[in-house]
Amino acid sequence: MAKVLCVLYDDPTGGYPASYARDDLPVIDHYPGGQTTPTPEAIDFTPGHLLGSVSGELGLRRFLEAAGHTLVVTSDKEGAGSVFDRELPDADIVISQPFWPAYLTADRIAAAKNLKLAVTAGIGSDHVDLGAAIAHGVTVAEVTYCNSISVAEHVVMSILALVRNYLPSHRVAVEGGWNIADCVARSYDLEGMQVGTVAAGRIGLAVLRRLAPFDVALHYTDRHRLPRAVEEELGLTFHESAADMVPHCDVVTVNAPLHPETEGLFGDELLGTMKRGAYLINTARARIVDRDAVDRALRDGRLAGYAGDVWFPQPAPADHPWRSMPHHGMTPHISGSSLSAQARYAAGTREILESWFAGRPIREEYLIVDGGALAGAGAHSYSVGG
Ligand code: NDP
Repeated sequence: MAKVLCVLYDDPTGGYPASYARDDLPVIDHYPGGQTTPTPEAIDFTPGHLLGSVSGELGLRRFLEAAGHTLVVTSDKEGAGSVFDRELPDADIVISQPFWPAYLTADRIAAAKNLKLAVTAGIGSDHVDLGAAIAHGVTVAEVTYCNSISVAEHVVMSILALVRNYLPSHRVAVEGGWNIADCVARSYDLEGMQVGTVAAGRIGLAVLRRLAPFDVALHYTDRHRLPRAVEEELGLTFHESAADMVPHCDVVTVNAPLHPETEGLFGDELLGTMKRGAYLINTARARIVDRDAVDRALRDGRLAGYAGDVWFPQPAPADHPWRSMPHHGMTPHISGSSLSAQARYAAGTREILESWFAGRPIREEYLIVDGGALAGAGAHSYSVGG
C-alpha cells in the first residue's frame, strides 16, 4: 500500500466555501488539437468546487483510502521542521502544485528513499529537480493541457489590463474619484500593436489565437516552427530567437518552460533592446526574467507595464519588489487554478494514480520523466541541467 503525500495551498482565510458563485461548469471533453480531457474511471468530487486547497484534497481521499493507501495532505512545506519534510522520507508518491510548490530538490529526493512518483497537479514540473528524479528512478508526471487555456485567458486579460490602464482606473472608481485624466494618461488601444510570444506551445498558441481578432500584428519564437498553415491563418511572423523578436514588439508574452535555456532570459541586456514603453507579461515562470532588472525597467520607462502570476520563491515574501514596483498587474499564482482548471487537474491526477496503481502506462502526454530519462511530453519540452 502506498503513502501519498499531497501538498496543497491553504483554504480561504474565511474557511472552506459552503457555496459557490455558479452552479456548474461548461462540459469540455477535449482540448484544441483533439487530446481528451482527463478520463479517470470515476471522480469523488463536484466539478466547480474548490479542490486545490487543503480541504479540497484534490478529491482523492475516498479513492485512495478505499484502496488501502494512506493520504497525507498539508500546506506546510518549508523548512526542516515542516510537515512535508517530516512526512517525505517514507512517502511513495508526492503530489504538488506549481501554485504552492513543494520544491523537490536533489537533497529531498535523496532523503525520500521510497519515492517512486512525483505528480504535478497542474503544468510545469520545474519545482522538481528532474536530474535527481532521473538519477533516482522517480517518475514525474503532470496533467498536460489541464490549465493551458486558463492561463491563455489570463495572459489576454493582463495584456488588456496593462495597455488600457484598467487596474489604476478601477482603483479610482473604488476610491470614490472621477479624475478621467488620471485614468487615461497611460491608456492606449491594443489595436495595431505588435505582439509577440516567446514560445508557441499550448499556451502561446492559444494566446495568439485569442489575440488575432484584436487586429494586432502577431510574432513568435520557438524551438520548433508552427505548421505553415497556422502561420498563414494567424498572419504570424516567426523569429529565430527572443533576441530577434523583442525589439519589434509593443507587447511580449512569455510562454516557455523554465529550464537552463530560458532561465534569466529577460535580463538588463534583452530588456534594453525592447521598445521604450513595451509591456511584458510572464505567466510562465518567474526565473525566466531577472527580478531586479524588471523593477529597474519599469522605473526607467523601458517597460510601461509588467504582469503575470509567477514569482520566486512561492509564496513571495511580503517585501518582494514586484509587490511595490510601478505599473504592474501581478497576482499571486492563480491563472492556472481557476475552479474550471481545478476540476481538470484533480481528475487528471486521479487518472495518473489509477494508471500507476493498476500498473498501466501513464498517458505519454502526461509523462515528464520515466525510466530514468525525460519521457513523453517532457522529452519534447524540457531540458535537464543547469
Ligand atoms: P508547452 O510544452 O505546450 O509549450 C512550451 C513551448 O515552449 C514549446 O513549444 C517549446 O518548444 C517552447 N520552448 C521551450 N524552450 C524554448 C526556448 N528556449 N525558446 C523558445 N521556446 C521554447 O507548454 P504550455 O504552453 O502548456 O506551458 C508553458 C509553460 O507555462 C509551462 O512550462 C509552465 O512553466 C507555464 N505554466 C504556467 C501556469 C500558470 O499557472 N501560470 C500553468 C501552466 C503552465 P518545442 O516544444 O517546440 O521544443
